[in-house]
Amino acid sequence: MQVSLPLARQHDPFFRAAESAYQACVHCGFCNATCPTYVLLGDERDGPRGRIYAMKEMLESGAVPPTSLVPHLDRCLSCLACRTTCPSGVDYARLIDLGRAQVAQDRRWSLKGLTRRVLATVMTQPGLLRVAVILGKAVSGWPIPGSIGAAVRVAHGANPTRGPVDGARVFPPLGPQRARVALLAGCAQRAVAPEINDATVRLLCRMGCEVVVLSEIRCCGSLDHHLGHAARAASFAAQAVSAWRAEHERQRLDFIVTNTSGCGAHLKDVEFHLQDRKEGASSAAEMASIMRDVTEVVAALGLPPAVPGSALDVAYQSACTLQHGQGIRDLPKELLTQAGFRVHGIKEDHLCCGSAGTYNIVQPALAGALGERKAHNIGLVAPEIVATGNVGCMLQLRNFVDVPIVHTVELLDWATGGPTPLALDAGYPRHP
Ligand code: SF4
Ligand code: SF4
Repeated sequence: MQVSLPLARQHDPFFRAAESAYQACVHCGFCNATCPTYVLLGDERDGPRGRIYAMKEMLESGAVPPTSLVPHLDRCLSCLACRTTCPSGVDYARLIDLGRAQVAQDRRWSLKGLTRRVLATVMTQPGLLRVAVILGKAVSGWPIPGSIGAAVRVAHGANPTRGPVDGARVFPPLGPQRARVALLAGCAQRAVAPEINDATVRLLCRMGCEVVVLSEIRCCGSLDHHLGHAARAASFAAQAVSAWRAEHERQRLDFIVTNTSGCGAHLKDVEFHLQDRKEGASSAAEMASIMRDVTEVVAALGLPPAVPGSALDVAYQSACTLQHGQGIRDLPKELLTQAGFRVHGIKEDHLCCGSAGTYNIVQPALAGALGERKAHNIGLVAPEIVATGNVGCMLQLRNFVDVPIVHTVELLDWATGGPTPLALDAGYPRHP
């Protein structure tokens, strides 16, 4: 499909990338079958093919997409199931990212724009987010409608305590050192599920890693990126890359480890996001080359021997940003099996659970329908535990599923000598 960029945009790398993505699309519609919003709504405009077509006008005018089409773009989860399915290799992310950024810029002074900026500000500051979660828990169960009610439901499954992995720390290896890694402690995750970082550090240290956490990295920019705040997302990413680069120059880092798949997917693509910055683009390429999801590092170094007794039935929920964003599908299941768990796949595991960054707050109805659908499919395998690689999925599923939901790394840590995961010990009862 041909598209002509306006003169003013012909040298804009983000428009050029979107143009290439658009041109690769042959409008076959295969992607509609795996798109969660198309599956739920059955409307061509709410599927990838319709959205790609809608963005033609944006590319040709160089401006915001037509107002009538904005709600259909807003309903996109950025799950990238369409990118996985597409036989023509259309990089849908390049189109929707640009579309979202244009929309966010256009409505920055509207109530919607303001709400999204407040959301991004709170969620990227762990101190503020902890206070918000505590307040949310205090009113849990109240019949609050809309996005505020949705945020309260998400807060219900959160743990707003401070973990040991907060602020700058160096965690020495247990035994001889085999690798030196930097862990992205994250912003929101640190405030809602510190147990994930604790388990990650314990497991990596047990495997012989020195683990460095840099306090100057506040956020990787993933959350803002998802909301279309392109400039703020790039600033966060540039700051993180520069901090890791400085640490790498001081003493070599073998890997930068992420345990939140949304952040990992964003950071593996950081070279693209920072390409128009004079400083930072080459550092971004170098740092992206050592960026790994925690499961990739565990596989590279080898899982320590499992302690007998972990033979529980685990349903594995494959986070979209891990399977579609980073192309990691089977590895977490293989590691869990190696650790002694009986691992079960979930029907329709390509479909998003409805979490998708802040989607379950800004699009509560669709997110709820996806959560119910995922819970039904999980119920079919009757697991004792559900494991996933993203904190957002954990909080979302705790609203719909009665069995404990944990991060994959918590199970790997537990099976190799760590403590019982918090969700199994204390439990997170389903939201009333
Ligand atoms: S994105 Fe791919 S699968 Fe979807 S319509 Fe275009 S070519 Fe077909
Ligand atoms: S990113 Fe997900 S929700 Fe958006 S069009 Fe693609 S499959 Fe559909």
